[in-house]
Amino acid sequence: MLDYIVVGFGISGLSLSKALSNKNRSFIIVSDASQKATLAAGGLVNPVMLKTGKLVWNINEFLPYAKQFYASFEVNAFSEYPIHRIFNSVEEQNNHLALANVINQEYVSTELVSAYNGIHAPFKMSKVNGGGVISIQKIVNHEMDRLKQLEQFVFSTFDYAKLNMHSDHVEYDGLKAKHIIFSEGFGIVNNPFFQKLSIQGNKGEYLIIQLKSLQLKAILKNKYFLIPLGDDLYKYGATYNRNEFDNQPSTVARDELQFHLNKMLTSEYTIVDQVAGIRPTVSDKKPIYGTHSKYKNVHVFNGMGSRGLLLAPLLANELINQLEDQLPLKKEIDIKRFKHL
Ligand SMILES: Cc1cc2nc3c(=O)[nH]c(=O)nc-3n(C[C@H](O)[C@H](O)[C@H](O)COP(=O)(O)OP(=O)(O)OC[C@H]3O[C@@H](n4cnc5c(N)ncnc54)[C@H](O)[C@@H]3O)c2cc1C
Repeated sequence: MLDYIVVGFGISGLSLSKALSNKNRSFIIVSDASQKATLAAGGLVNPVMLKTGKLVWNINEFLPYAKQFYASFEVNAFSEYPIHRIFNSVEEQNNHLALANVINQEYVSTELVSAYNGIHAPFKMSKVNGGGVISIQKIVNHEMDRLKQLEQFVFSTFDYAKLNMHSDHVEYDGLKAKHIIFSEGFGIVNNPFFQKLSIQGNKGEYLIIQLKSLQLKAILKNKYFLIPLGDDLYKYGATYNRNEFDNQPSTVARDELQFHLNKMLTSEYTIVDQVAGIRPTVSDKKPIYGTHSKYKNVHVFNGMGSRGLLLAPLLANELINQLEDQLPLKKEIDIKRFKHL
């Protein structure tokens, strides 16, 4: 009998697979490609909420863990870059400086950075340290291939009607396992065991552009982020839309993104692609992990919102430590904060 079946292989499933491997637990991943949040993600890890200047919740715990996690793959995945917010006025500059003087200076610098060539930033830019870009798509694809070779990955859509519960294990399509963890991202809306968790979708879109003149070694933000991907390619985005739940790029988002990109860049660029995905979000803006209140072998790992790359690695480890060694979960994230039956 297997120890675990994990359903879904975005950053949530990937983080669970790593935590299980670290504990020498046997598992099989069942995943399709119906959801694309991780594949669309910009790869951004940012310790600061740039609008308010405040540090991200529990950043000193999440960031070092995430960096160590991404460094553990064969693919070279993390590029550390400064993050610059472009100011629109002297008032914004002053507000930033007032905050920067009181906030953790490991992350938020008091330095005002002048515009780079090709960038429109007459009021200069702020500087955040410690963040960067993860080549998450490379890691997911690499790990998927590796797990397929080890016969630990089944590419298929999970059929919930085929799951049978027993007192000490579950059975699915010929597989027996002590536990099953659902990490389907926004696909959880089809999961009958967690219907009442009311995870909401928030569609995001990026433009991928080619920009030959810039050679940027930083992440820039006006309304949206400009993120270097290497080889003169950049992502610009991402939009937020709570009313559409398909993974198709839209002309509305393209127009919105182009409008703000044209304000940021004074150099020529070419749009080479546009990508979309649905962020799985929760009303209190925190992820959800833990065990079903009726079925003790059935667990959930979801609701990563707009910071899945930062949060999922550590939280997956906590969930597995809870299931294996009864270590406590974070109360703010525990599924117990919701009634789900
Ligand atoms: C456009 C965009 C940009 C973003 N940028 C960033 C960023 O820069 N940094 C950051 O930290 N976060 C970012 N996010 C948020 C981040 O992408 C999400 O928090 C995270 O990817 C969610 O991961 P997940 O594994 O829970 O879901 P997903 O990535 O959606 O993965 C779920 C997986 O489960 C599979 N699945 C679903 N249903 C089934 C089923 N029934 N059977 C089998 N498989 C199933 C799906 O096909 C998919 O493979 C962004 C999100 C979007 C949409």
